Amino acid sequence: MSVDIETTCIHGNGQLEKDHPYRSIITPIFQVATFAHPGIGRSTGYDYSRVGNPTRNDLEQVVNDLEHGRGCLATTNGMAAIWLTLELFDPRSHIIASEDLYGGSVRLFDAVKESHDISVSYINTSFPDEVRKAVRENTKALYIETPSNPMMEVTDLAEMRKIADEHGLLLIVDNTFLSPYFQNPIDFGADIVVHSGTKYLEGHNDTLAGFVISRTEELHERLAFLYKTMGPCLAPFDSFLVLRGIKTLAIRLERQQENAVRIAKWLRSNPNVTEVYYVGLEDHPGYEVNKKQSRGFGGMISFRTKDKETAERILAKVKIITFAESLGGVESLITYPMIQTHGYIDPEVREKLGITDTLLRLSVGIENVNDLIGDLEQAFSE
Ligand SMILES: *Cc1c(COP(=O)(O)O)cnc(C)c1O
Repeated sequence: MSVDIETTCIHGNGQLEKDHPYRSIITPIFQVATFAHPGIGRSTGYDYSRVGNPTRNDLEQVVNDLEHGRGCLATTNGMAAIWLTLELFDPRSHIIASEDLYGGSVRLFDAVKESHDISVSYINTSFPDEVRKAVRENTKALYIETPSNPMMEVTDLAEMRKIADEHGLLLIVDNTFLSPYFQNPIDFGADIVVHSGTKYLEGHNDTLAGFVISRTEELHERLAFLYKTMGPCLAPFDSFLVLRGIKTLAIRLERQQENAVRIAKWLRSNPNVTEVYYVGLEDHPGYEVNKKQSRGFGGMISFRTKDKETAERILAKVKIITFAESLGGVESLITYPMIQTHGYIDPEVREKLGITDTLLRLSVGIENVNDLIGDLEQAFSE
């Protein structure tokens, strides 16, 4: 029976509860490292928890179903998921990445540049022709964030698929910002989807997790081999927490988006705000493309204050909203990308992208929206 996304969040493909011991409604925490063999050459399906663990396996099934994949691996955090995909590439490989990217991903690419002999070009992937021009004879992959972090640039995934087909490239998409509730990149041709499961999927700011979902079984097998060999596997208890978090993904994201639309409009009418970057605003340059490839806009807003002092005052004065890194949880968080998530990025590049001392990023939670707007109101006031 095919079910809709809200049901998948709770029951996965419908098989989960049937296989649990005592028909337990919830996936138990199999806090176990190793499993007995019924005989020589025989297995219960589980041998050793680095390779597979029943709690983690249920989580991987749910995320795989949500992302329309053919295989999913749950990693210790988002960086481990991205790093795992980089291990697919031979030395001398070249990757084209969105220029406005999570700072940690740029740091990772820099870290493996020498040891893995991989080069990366950062391109504004909102312009497919720019991507085409950047393809070299040793280009192996496109690495995309849409909407991007923190400037909310939108990239047309179907266009990226065309370029990938023209040159035999892998299309990798970091789908952390919209989550599978709003966007399924595999439906638009992504070969691999990665997630920081720490964010919307887990949703409660209490666990780190990451995911790698593949479009084909062949690709999943290659990644699963690297995974069991290198060992970035999510622990059983953390898997349990993410499974629990995902059960409310649909209602959390609906509320987060509803709140975000209200707050984006409020920010826009605020004289101390010079720019609002939210893909749900109809005059956002990526509005139409985002609409074509997703079911929503999410809960992430960036905005620019009229001066640095206003930005600093907001960070000092917010009471309900917390000045903290990260995003996607039920608590609203406000971030100063220049010094936090993107502190690693070269200042000149930051300036060019617009990540300056007047840019703030807001991850909208599920609190009462009037309370959130009230909090911003008092934080803006001198
Ligand atoms: C947070 C984040 C990551 C890294 O994930 P961790 O779980 O913190 O390791 C990667 N990509 C994006 C878009 C993120 O927001």
